[in-house]
Amino acid sequence: MPSYEAPLVELKRIEKSYAPRTATRSRKVRAVRGVSLSIRRGETLGLVGESGCGKSTVGRIAARLLEPSGGTLHYQGTDITNVRGKTLRRLRQHIQYVFQDPYASLNPRFTIGRLLEEPLKYNRIGNRRERQREVVEMLERIGLDAAYKDRYPHELSGGQRQRVGIVRALMLNPEFVVLDEPVSALDVSVQAQILNLLKSLQDERSLTYLFISHDLNVVHYISDRVAVMYLGSIVEIADVHDLYERPSHPYTQALVSSIPAERGAGKRESVILSGDLPDPAALIGGCPFRTRCRHAFDRCAAEMPDWSEVAEGHAVRCHLWNEEQAGTDVRQTEIFASAGGTGL
Ligand code: ADP
Ligand code: MG
Repeated sequence: MPSYEAPLVELKRIEKSYAPRTATRSRKVRAVRGVSLSIRRGETLGLVGESGCGKSTVGRIAARLLEPSGGTLHYQGTDITNVRGKTLRRLRQHIQYVFQDPYASLNPRFTIGRLLEEPLKYNRIGNRRERQREVVEMLERIGLDAAYKDRYPHELSGGQRQRVGIVRALMLNPEFVVLDEPVSALDVSVQAQILNLLKSLQDERSLTYLFISHDLNVVHYISDRVAVMYLGSIVEIADVHDLYERPSHPYTQALVSSIPAERGAGKRESVILSGDLPDPAALIGGCPFRTRCRHAFDRCAAEMPDWSEVAEGHAVRCHLWNEEQAGTDVRQTEIFASAGGTGL
């Protein structure tokens, strides 16, 4: 059933520029370029792309931890781009952020019990006994017995630490959680446990997730919809199965084709990306992917493509898909051919 409810979180034409990090650089880094995303209540939106493409910047803006240079952020239909003070503090209870490395976000001098109790204490929730009970319940929920409350972060394994990082973010019962590469630092064997924990917590607590990762398998496993990011722009968005079965942007095709066969949809020709990720500060105008795209033609350097709808809920930003070219353009058939598909 289609839902007509307003999205829980909405980013509208978000821009973010950073001052250059080194003195030898003069141009600003345009880390995020006109990103618009709607996140529906209760869903997991995956955000995937190579390192440095701007995923964390989008995530931090969505969590209201970082102010955009342009565009607006809406939460439950209200513009929260510029809220401050008490309103912002209240908002912080509803929106949480989980970092890739919980070691960096968990104060090493605090016990696990104190780390978990702190958000409650800071917000003056419950008395000490009630808070302690809540802490023990949360520990049990993640499979750690009560004795763990007296341990320190360094006494835990990476997976245990990330479980603590996740429930710590949930202590205040948030609605929306940005998960920034939450399993990227963990062994593959531990990743599935954490992803399953995230899924069951989401069901129990009706959470909405923005799940950031550079790993397509991980994103495939956890997401309802997926947005693909390249050099500051979203280039494709679709329901998860649609995206992996019918990747339509040449960049998404290259990413999906590099997934080992049993995970991708059928046998496909591997599309190897040529060239390096261009310097985001140097790229001006046109499609950001053009310097590595094997289909690029003159129009790609001249203008940034608009969104085209490939199927319902599946949109792509690529000139190959522009309406005026549809039907007449052989490149479209080439896209399907290069996507591999069934080999018919
Ligand atoms: P991702 O999470 O996809 O790896 P980021 O959002 O961290 O990407 O970074 C996007 C771009 O912005 C990169 O080129 C990065 O070097 C740059 N960047 C990120 N944070 C800063 C900062 N605080 N100052 C300057 N440049 C930054
Ligand atoms: Mg990042």
